[in-house]
Amino acid sequence: MMGYDSLFFDGADDSMMVRQALAEGRIILTRDTQIMKRRVVAGGRLRAVLLDSEDPEEQMRQLLRSMDLLGDARPFTLCLECNAPLVERRPDEVKDRVPPYVFRTQQQYMECPRCRRVYWRGTHWQAMKRKLEGMGGELRD
Ligand SMILES: [Zn+2]
Repeated sequence: MMGYDSLFFDGADDSMMVRQALAEGRIILTRDTQIMKRRVVAGGRLRAVLLDSEDPEEQMRQLLRSMDLLGDARPFTLCLECNAPLVERRPDEVKDRVPPYVFRTQQQYMECPRCRRVYWRGTHWQAMKRKLEGMGGELRD
């Protein structure tokens, strides 16, 4: 949602996650204290953040506080489904794939080149933007 390239790991294989994070320069966000004790993390070779709360909104606040992430945030530039960078589309390019009401009222569209999902700045977008701003301040459009 905030435009950070992110992956979700639900596997039991922590070593695989750590290897991939190292290879791709990722930061691990975890509730698992064992991850923090790994030599590669404790020694500072791999960045990791131990999340204090189970609540996703609290977790986001913690990240914004602890990592100064907002400067680099590019909200709504990545596909929420598959993490790919979105591409701007003209209304006529997406006409057949959005509801008629949306087509009449929205001028700006983004499309995911991977899954073809189309995004526009409707009420859901507005609500998410307000939520992000409530957590961290100014967000660029
Ligand atoms: Zn997608």
